[in-house]
Amino acid sequence: MIISMKLHSTKREVEQVCERIRDFGYKVHSIDGEERVVIGVVGMGDVTACLESVEALPQVEKAVRISAPYKFVSREFRPTRTIVRANGVEIGGGEFVVMAGPCSVESEKQIMQSAEGVARCGAKLLRGGAFKPRTSPYDFQGLEEEGLKLLAKAKAATGLGIITEVMSDRDVPLVAEYADILQIGARNMQNFALLKTLGKCGRPVLLKRGMSSTVKELLMSAEYVVAHGNPDVILCERGIRTFETVTRNTCDIAAIAALNELTHLPVILDPSHATGKRSLVPALSRAGVAIGADGLLVEVHPAPDKAISDGAQSLDLAQFGRLMRELEPYIQLWKTSRVPEAVLAL
Ligand code: PEP
Ligand code: MN
Repeated sequence: MIISMKLHSTKREVEQVCERIRDFGYKVHSIDGEERVVIGVVGMGDVTACLESVEALPQVEKAVRISAPYKFVSREFRPTRTIVRANGVEIGGGEFVVMAGPCSVESEKQIMQSAEGVARCGAKLLRGGAFKPRTSPYDFQGLEEEGLKLLAKAKAATGLGIITEVMSDRDVPLVAEYADILQIGARNMQNFALLKTLGKCGRPVLLKRGMSSTVKELLMSAEYVVAHGNPDVILCERGIRTFETVTRNTCDIAAIAALNELTHLPVILDPSHATGKRSLVPALSRAGVAIGADGLLVEVHPAPDKAISDGAQSLDLAQFGRLMRELEPYIQLWKTSRVPEAVLAL
């Protein structure tokens, strides 16, 4: 924050302003110019409250916030990439990580076939919702704890780590028992009670961008989790709502590049929800690799036409295998672009 005093303010007036700022827990550094005093404010605290309080003082000309409102997740705070580890897999490091599986856990057979199939094709984590956020209360809501148990079976059979959604702060301890990564869905990106609970959940968190949220709001939500004690946050672009109707959502591919400038956290792309159409998933996945995402979250179902949720955007196992093979040369290029940064970080 920088405070600019009115012209020819007295020493006493400057001191009054400094006192007010210190009351908020900040440190002040005042710089005396020829006619005007400028006060630099540093430290941690409630910036908005301090800014409003200082602006209300009559001797203050202007108060502006200079650093990003998200501190811990910003690149300024930590210039090197955060690597999130889950079940022995590093996200944000030197490997492009693909997480794949069905939208919902439906049955033992379905999740086992999915897990075995995606593992064979090179996925490193198995996705599958046991708690499902559905627009209609009459739609399938997920198998809940039974679904989590099926995910545990699939993990035991394949060794794949599990990423699954948690919708309520009440369910965090239960889901954290089974999941290697807790997924926070687009509809819950600003569920602040949930975000605070995740600070102490002891598991990495994958935070999906809300469908009407800005990149900055996504970063503020990540800041909640980190500020409450959990540094292991992965961000996920999954498309936003626009006037476009050809695709289910509009993939804001540039958000990935922007996030890579603004934050040290890993960023992945969900090409399935971003498009809503399986035919578009391969092209968007290539774009995700090319723009520097750290990985993908892809919906794959052994029989998409029979899927209880999101079948139209789910790949079958053969299509997923093809996608993984086709991505290989792109991922090789991606790796060469990672090398300079890895060297810098040493
Ligand atoms: C999902 O991953 O199945 C899901 C519900 O995604 P989103 O929260 O992005 O809509
Ligand atoms: Mn889905």
